[in-house]
Amino acid sequence: MFDLSGRVALVTGASRGIGRATAIALATRGAWVAVNYATNSAAAEETLAAMRTAGGDGELLPFDVSDAAAVTVAVEDLVLRKGPLAIAVANAGLNIDGLLLRAQEEDFDRMLATNVKGTFFLAKASVRSMMKARFGRIIAVSSVVGAMGNAGQSMYAASKSALVGMMRSIAREYGSRGVTANVVSPGFVETDMTAGMPEEARKKLLGMIPSGRLGRPEDVAAAVVYLASAEASWVTGQVLGVNGGMRM
Ligand code: NAP
Repeated sequence: MFDLSGRVALVTGASRGIGRATAIALATRGAWVAVNYATNSAAAEETLAAMRTAGGDGELLPFDVSDAAAVTVAVEDLVLRKGPLAIAVANAGLNIDGLLLRAQEEDFDRMLATNVKGTFFLAKASVRSMMKARFGRIIAVSSVVGAMGNAGQSMYAASKSALVGMMRSIAREYGSRGVTANVVSPGFVETDMTAGMPEEARKKLLGMIPSGRLGRPEDVAAAVVYLASAEASWVTGQVLGVNGGMRM
């Protein structure tokens, strides 16, 4: 089950955290994986090395997801070289906290550009080759915060809940062509993004998670592997929560 041999995949923000674990998990299942990142090439190299250790392969593919032209060029060139893109994981994301009264418009713009437009540009650049191949998996990484809200995260939550409507619309547009579009919605996961969380906030959070622990990047990666698989062909427009039961 969940054999991805022969599939070409692209994971944005795969140099670290959830994206890295996802790239490794997809490669372990046989996919050839393009490892996207913004600036951190040393970390991206580590992802690629771990993929190879796991018996998989791929390449580094740096670009800024908020740059529409860069995304298009990178995906078109990838398809020319490697064949149809089967799996596109829009994972790259940015979180800047800010209480409503102190929130800065430029922070909001940056988050919308990366989290929302970056996902849209990836989906747009990927769907043509998916349609032609009659197989495609577009997977956006949202957040439990997009559904529950969180004090200090109104901008981030807005950027993450936007992905649900986006994926559902794409699911309706391309469902008949073998292309699915789904959302994975992680709870709080141990990555660089959550590393700076104050101890008090961490304790409070743990009290809200029935599983009694924060997530690991691999918990989220496993959900992506499932949605990327042939077995998930009848699952589209869905939001798969991976949050230890924090939101049911
Ligand atoms: P992370 O550890 O902070 O890593 C972020 C990744 O995104 C890095 O690979 C980074 O590349 C890349 N990135 C950022 N901006 C980019 C851009 N403009 N273009 C291309 N790549 C870019 O993040 P994470 O915690 O793994 O989170 C991954 C995703 O899951 C995000 O969408 C996040 O919102 C979501 N999420 C995280 C949590 C959590 O608790 N951690 C919970 C729910 C949802 P560089 O290394 O080059 O900077």
